[in-house]
Amino acid sequence: MSPDLRDDFPLLARTVRNGRSLVYLDSGATAQKPLAVLEAEAAFYRERNGAVARGAHLLAEEATEAFESARADVAALIGAAADEVVWTSGATAAINLVANGMLQASLGAGGAEAERFRVGPGDRIVVTELEHHANLIPWQQLAARTGAELAWIPVDDDGVLRYDEVDSVITPETRVVAFTHASNVTGVVTDVEAIVRRAREVGAITVLDGCQSVPHLPVDVAELGVDLMAFSGHKMLGPTGIGALWGRKDLLDALPPSMFGGSAIRVVTMETTTWLEAPQRFEPGTQPVAQAVGMAAAARYLMDVGMDEVARHEAHLAQLLREGVAALPGVRLLGPVGGSGALDVLGLAAVVVDGVHAHDVGQILDDRGIAARVGHHCAQPLHRRLGVTGSTRASAHLYTTEDDVRAFLEALAGVREFFG
Ligand code: PLP
Repeated sequence: MSPDLRDDFPLLARTVRNGRSLVYLDSGATAQKPLAVLEAEAAFYRERNGAVARGAHLLAEEATEAFESARADVAALIGAAADEVVWTSGATAAINLVANGMLQASLGAGGAEAERFRVGPGDRIVVTELEHHANLIPWQQLAARTGAELAWIPVDDDGVLRYDEVDSVITPETRVVAFTHASNVTGVVTDVEAIVRRAREVGAITVLDGCQSVPHLPVDVAELGVDLMAFSGHKMLGPTGIGALWGRKDLLDALPPSMFGGSAIRVVTMETTTWLEAPQRFEPGTQPVAQAVGMAAAARYLMDVGMDEVARHEAHLAQLLREGVAALPGVRLLGPVGGSGALDVLGLAAVVVDGVHAHDVGQILDDRGIAARVGHHCAQPLHRRLGVTGSTRASAHLYTTEDDVRAFLEALAGVREFFG
């Protein structure tokens, strides 16, 4: 990765606590933004702001064009068509859109077309034990409201999915399988094919959480073979308040909407409403247009650098980071060391320092200008399974350097000394 690339990210030049230069290792939580993204958003407001899909005037036309071409750019990043991408406020909202759509279907919405989304007593909803809460709680809620059973693919003592359990957990009664493409705690990339194969065998819909993969790996939804995928703007160098749900068009057209209002409709009478096709049927109300434009600028930025290049850079950092952590006495790396060269493990490491609370570790890092994440990273069940309540996570992105990783490792090595 070219060192000049860091100049694209103004925030990285900041000094932070104690006058230290910022070492930003919290990209797994949210990524920093290149100028191209900041400028795209500002330019939209400066030059093209108008009501999308509503007005008859030039600005409305230009804003609509910006909004729709942003959709095409974001779709291109994941190898999809523009009309397969629904804007949402983030990945959490995208997953809720699917789970709540299935709830609507289960309550009878959507007619015969929505049959494949219906769940009830006797049906199964499958997740995994390592999901972020955003890809667990919506499914818990769907199960609780419909009487379906929630089941999960367990992990082993390293926090790695038990693929040998896939066939027995994904039973013929399974209607949906929701799983992450990469763990935000262990960093391990999921063998998507192994899960999709079984889900297809039993006719279940697959929902992939692409939050941690789309920003870091080449992702092609057709190759992956999943039915739906959620991802967020802010983790892929884009703005907050924007994300997307990708879905096969036939599925999106049949999934009942669960958020209602203007713009998403075909005909409204005092008694009833009919919906537009996807993606508009899921986009009622005024949309986050400038954020969509910013997310598209982020997608173009990533495509310009090249996702293979991003993945190569992060695979190298992953190895440095994870082997470095594994070599520190008294520091436990959550998950396997991994790092075969291909990015089968993300450039992140969640660690537990013997006898030191994660928040204290975070404090020491912060004193040295190192921004890392502490806590359970919205994955309490996985932490519980690994026998810990929290961890300290360093996570990289394309702008992360070897020096950043070394600074983290050095600080970590000093933590136990500090606490005696
Ligand atoms: N899924 C995973 C794996 C995540 O890491 C996150 C963010 O922390 C989310 C879902 C939620 O994404 P968003 O912030 O876009 O709602």
